[in-house]
Amino acid sequence: AKVEEKLFQNRYLVDAGRPHIKVRPHDVPSASLLAMITLCPAGCYTTTESGQVEVAADGCLECGTCRIVTRKTGEIEWNYPRGGFGVLYKFG
Ligand code: SF4
Repeated sequence: AKVEEKLFQNRYLVDAGRPHIKVRPHDVPSASLLAMITLCPAGCYTTTESGQVEVAADGCLECGTCRIVTRKTGEIEWNYPRGGFGVLYKFG
């Protein structure tokens, strides 16, 4: 099956108003941050009309890629969702 079909099997519980990943305010995103638009497996990263990068953490798979890719630039704030929220993986 395609990865999209597999991803669809996961459920995601949104912790309304408390996103676990935030992009810090910036004028120009670094190349690392920009790369997240194509790297994030859940497609959480997009650009605004004025060229900043933003994240919609709903659907995040907690893979940690964005945390690692931007670890030197410090452009994002990354935490695990609170207990009970976030991605609920279905096994089997
Ligand atoms: Fe995307 Fe993974 Fe970062 Fe979640 S942790 S926003 S799935 S790159």
